[in-house]
Amino acid sequence: MSEITLEQFRSEATDFLNQNATLKAEVSEFVWGEGPDDPALFETVDREQERKELSQAQQWRAKKFDAGFGWITGDPKLGGRGLARAFERAYNELENRYEVPNQSFFGIGLGMVAPTIADHADPEIAADVLPQMYRGDIVGCQLFSEPGAGSDLASLQLKAERDGDEWILTGQKVWTSGAHYSDLGEVIARTDLDLPKHKGLTGFIVDMKAPGVEIVPLRQMTGGANFNEVFFNEVRVLDTHRLGEVNDGWRVALTTLMNERASIGGGSNAGGGFTRLKEMVKHFELDNDPLIRQQMMDIYIRGQVLRMNNQRTMAALKRGELPGPEMSGAKLLLTENMRRTSAFVSSVLGPKLVADSGEWGTFSWAGYVLGMPGMAIAGGSDQVLRNIMGERVLGLPKEPGIDTTSPFKDLTVGTQR
Ligand SMILES: Cc1cc2nc3c(=O)[nH]c(=O)nc-3n(C[C@H](O)[C@H](O)[C@H](O)COP(=O)(O)OP(=O)(O)OC[C@H]3O[C@@H](n4cnc5c(N)ncnc54)[C@H](O)[C@@H]3O)c2cc1C
Repeated sequence: MSEITLEQFRSEATDFLNQNATLKAEVSEFVWGEGPDDPALFETVDREQERKELSQAQQWRAKKFDAGFGWITGDPKLGGRGLARAFERAYNELENRYEVPNQSFFGIGLGMVAPTIADHADPEIAADVLPQMYRGDIVGCQLFSEPGAGSDLASLQLKAERDGDEWILTGQKVWTSGAHYSDLGEVIARTDLDLPKHKGLTGFIVDMKAPGVEIVPLRQMTGGANFNEVFFNEVRVLDTHRLGEVNDGWRVALTTLMNERASIGGGSNAGGGFTRLKEMVKHFELDNDPLIRQQMMDIYIRGQVLRMNNQRTMAALKRGELPGPEMSGAKLLLTENMRRTSAFVSSVLGPKLVADSGEWGTFSWAGYVLGMPGMAIAGGSDQVLRNIMGERVLGLPKEPGIDTTSPFKDLTVGTQR
């Protein structure tokens, strides 16, 4: 039983936020040509600006951690608040009303890596690392994908060889979001070549600044470079930094992947919302075009279905249930509506989408249209999620594969990516 009521907690959090942040201006009615013009799905800031934003984000996390709002559900012995998830949700709802530095730097570390460390790391290491992560002193990234292992993650080849109390990691990862500003990474490596592919893997926590870690940015077609190739050139990792048992890394990876799917599937229809689309159509005097109206309503209805689906999932989580394969469905709904939104803005804007004339609300959509394919791949591609829905929800026969046994049979959330 918590000693503080939700009401008391809300009032304490409101005091903290009032003293340390500014309330967002009342959301005024959307006016075409006014306000931020940024429907892009991935940020395209340069590295210097990114460093500045990261530093502001870290200062904010430290401040809220020190005031007792940075790790609300965490163990009080480690600096957490020991409160139920409802308190965390209440705080997040309140913080949303204030202008605070961009917190997306911590999405992967706190949303996916930290829960895995809590479940699988040596308790002493977890006690050292987790408070630093929640305070924002340490930023985490996820090193799973390789050039030859994405959807079929268990085919990964990065090698870890034991050397006394240490392991030596050699190989390559790819698509590592935020590796360039991360301090710590969760890596899955191959520790036994003779075992079946899901069985010879082991998880580790690596220091991203350790000798032998080489990070090379990958530039996307959106212009930004949010991802990296990461090369491991005989990187030494202490055995105490192992996650789970030797050769039990698949279980460790699944903990992370379950959290990944849940966090992406819970997203909304990004791109500035439906009002923005409606006003675009009015601005270009297409509101009487029957095909444009039909396309627009299709996006609206699908957006509503997604919202209700997410509400249902949130209600299940509040009741303490684990997210099921519906998270795969939620992610599919999200990316399908993004794809339709891309097609819609392309037909409305035409050449304005590809030539930057400086006109508000036109060329800026290129960042959305070019970023959309990445959303349909990250955290499980559309095709892989359809397989999961077919097999786990509809009960269709398993897709023929090269594996003789299914690694997914015991899982609540589909985990093939
Ligand atoms: C925005 C973004 C962020 C990312 N961030 C990270 C990160 O931080 N860390 C990390 O480790 N990785 C990250 N990734 C990598 C991501 O996990 C992989 O891209 C993803 O798992 C797909 O793997 P792949 O790129 O190798 O494609 P592949 O697996 O080679 O797939 C190629 C195509 O084949 C299809 N396909 C594959 N298998 C099947 C099948 N069984 N049935 C039908 N179709 C199939 C796929 O749908 C896809 O269209 C990120 C990717 C993106 C786009």
